[in-house]
Amino acid sequence: MNAGAHQSCTANILFDTQIVTLGGDLAILTPDQLGYGYRTSLLQKQAKLVTQATLQLEPGYSKTEVMTTTAEHRAQRQATQPYHLPSCGSVFRNPSAYSAAWLIEQTGLKGYRIGDAEVAHRHANFILNCGRAKAGDIWRLIHHIQEQVEIKWQVKLIPEVKIWGDFSQL
Ligand SMILES: Cc1cc2nc3c(=O)[nH]c(=O)nc-3n(C[C@H](O)[C@H](O)[C@H](O)COP(=O)(O)OP(=O)(O)OC[C@H]3O[C@@H](n4cnc5c(N)ncnc54)[C@H](O)[C@@H]3O)c2cc1C
Repeated sequence: MNAGAHQSCTANILFDTQIVTLGGDLAILTPDQLGYGYRTSLLQKQAKLVTQATLQLEPGYSKTEVMTTTAEHRAQRQATQPYHLPSCGSVFRNPSAYSAAWLIEQTGLKGYRIGDAEVAHRHANFILNCGRAKAGDIWRLIHHIQEQVEIKWQVKLIPEVKIWGDFSQL
């Protein structure tokens, strides 16, 4: 899904990947062939298993520079994201110039709860399991957020996370 943060993403440092298809064929694919985009790649749509990846790191930084930047990023994340309770990270893709977190916050949903599933106060694009939240609680909360944000902003938030299971009875 091309995870990324701090103005970079996996595709930026990926040199190539070895994949195996369901038929057992091996191939080497470059990032261009994998069609990387914002939190997307062809790996999400095609049945391919990555068996190896070659990463090309950026040369020219000292150990101290790397450690300092890493510490800054970690501190920034800990100050702006909730890590004291379980979550799956960001739930929705950022749809436009406005982030999903900003849209959810401006809809007044911070702290909104269904069962033990709660829209985090520290970062509105995080849903926290505050105790014994069930997958169904989180699924209902995702739908509630989508509905309310669409009513207020006419923007349909698309989940970044994959939803597993059949919730059609809820
Ligand atoms: C607290 C928190 C903060 C987060 N912050 C960020 C963030 O800032 N930016 C961001 O981009 N993401 C963020 N995430 C999401 C994070 O990037 C994903 O949860 C993580 O990358 C998924 O990788 P995994 O290996 O843990 O998961 P897995 O569930 O093992 O894999 C994820 C997907 O890849 C597929 N897959 C796994 N292995 C292979 C393989 N060998 N070949 C082909 N497909 C495979 C799986 O089928 C699955 O669909 C955050 C998550 C959490 C919990």
